[in-house]
Amino acid sequence: MASVPDCIFCKIVRGEAPAHRVCEDERTLAFMDIFPVTDGHTLVITKDHFENVFEADEDALAAIARTSHRVAAAIKSELAPDGLMVFQLNGQAAGQTVFHYHMHLMPRASGEPLALHTRVPGVPARMAELAAKLARALVLVLALAHSGCFTPASIRQEREGWKNEWNARVTGAKSDWENPCATKPFIAWADPFLASCPEDSKLDECRARRDWVEDRVAQCRDWTAWQLRNFNQHQRTEGTAPSVLID
Ligand code: AMP
Ligand code: ZN
Repeated sequence: MASVPDCIFCKIVRGEAPAHRVCEDERTLAFMDIFPVTDGHTLVITKDHFENVFEADEDALAAIARTSHRVAAAIKSELAPDGLMVFQLNGQAAGQTVFHYHMHLMPRASGEPLALHTRVPGVPARMAELAAKLARALVLVLALAHSGCFTPASIRQEREGWKNEWNARVTGAKSDWENPCATKPFIAWADPFLASCPEDSKLDECRARRDWVEDRVAQCRDWTAWQLRNFNQHQRTEGTAPSVLID
């Protein structure tokens, strides 16, 4: 993998510099911007060092697009911003300040002044909280992506092939974590708001979320082995496995 010793983003990839990591896969890494312009400002970077879009190869850019799409969904589900800016800068003249290819995901509120950078560091506790929330929402986003309800066509096709493997696992009912989508508490865990709703809550918002969960539970029956593997990889990378016991 192309890595540059003094590049701050390469250092983050190598684990030599700290970051509030949200998720990673083979080619990309997402973490909170250390100078967030808005709450939830997240970066998605290539693991390989490319200075800019001109140097990056197409596969890397495709990987960035995929991860950005997923993180965008996690931001939407966690923060419900009025809008989301997804952008990237190439060269000093365009405002680039870190010369390692990266995509910005910046939640935006209506009427907020438009800025690309700030020099005010984020509050570490808030960034850690956001990273954990987004990581957790991503588990759900991935699940939905591969259950067919939130999905690029290519994933839908592959899903057929995984169905048998997945179903075998679900019926085999291994450990709670290996069978995370089979029951409601998992989804409840993945929805922080619902986690704060008592079972018998009559609040409209709690009811709405409970209905939403019922729908997702139905969709979960179709989860795939591919998604399961990603779950586990995600869990290992981020240490964000649910600790709930599933009955
Ligand atoms: P750009 O100006 O598009 O090159 O964006 C670089 C971004 O990286 C800025 O938004 C910075 O706040 C952010 N940044 C710089 N150093 C770090 C770091 N160590 N961890 C997280 N974000 C960083
Ligand atoms: Zn680099």
